[in-house]
Amino acid sequence: MSPPRADTHRLLYHPAAATHPLPQPSTMRVLLVEDDPLIGDGLRLGLSRLGIHADWVEGISAATQALDHDDYAAVVLDLGLPDGSGLELLRRARERGVPVPVLILTARDAIDDKLAGFATGADDYVVKPVAVEELAARLTALARRAGGWASPCLRCGEVELDLAARRVRRKGEEVALSGKELTVLELLMQNAGRVVTRSRIDETLYGWDEGAESNTVEVFIHHLRRKLGSDFIRTLRGIGYLIPRDEEGR
Ligand code: CA
Repeated sequence: MSPPRADTHRLLYHPAAATHPLPQPSTMRVLLVEDDPLIGDGLRLGLSRLGIHADWVEGISAATQALDHDDYAAVVLDLGLPDGSGLELLRRARERGVPVPVLILTARDAIDDKLAGFATGADDYVVKPVAVEELAARLTALARRAGGWASPCLRCGEVELDLAARRVRRKGEEVALSGKELTVLELLMQNAGRVVTRSRIDETLYGWDEGAESNTVEVFIHHLRRKLGSDFIRTLRGIGYLIPRDEEGR
């Protein structure tokens, strides 16, 4: 293990994290490719406190496997990795048609490195050290653009979900939701008009099971209907749940 670097504390800790209320968890899942254990662990923890679940891998081969098997909202990619360059991973991923937004996070600050990153298919390039809040904001913006939502608000019928502020309103009035209720609602609203299977909801909730809150999907759906209207979420028996899109008569 390499000795801690002088700048590491800025990645592990940022004063804003101590003084500002933490946002509610979101459904966002990212892949973090970083071989420095201190930075990797610090970012994983910091992002999770800001509502972003990061799967952390330390090299190219593990990252390639993860990208092949999972859907990520974005990738945070270090360049100097033990089994090669992050750029090589990016190049191969783009050749295979993997569309996921990639944010390069590296100590290399030369303009040539930045240009090579973008030319290879990166969507953003950030030089270490970075405050974890800035990284989270950049990842959220990348995922939002990739998801085709220019606005940070989702709206279905009477219900509006502000993704940035983590707030929900019904008929303009704020509705208090728990972090997991918000997670389920966000998943359903992002997929409005499509069925979301129970196992997908289960998967999304995975990683948020601290505390005593029940993890049963039915319980969250029940709470959401109680707070947002009994017909807001439809059940497709044996398959999953659906929020109709606005143009389907809501
Ligand atoms: Ca590295």
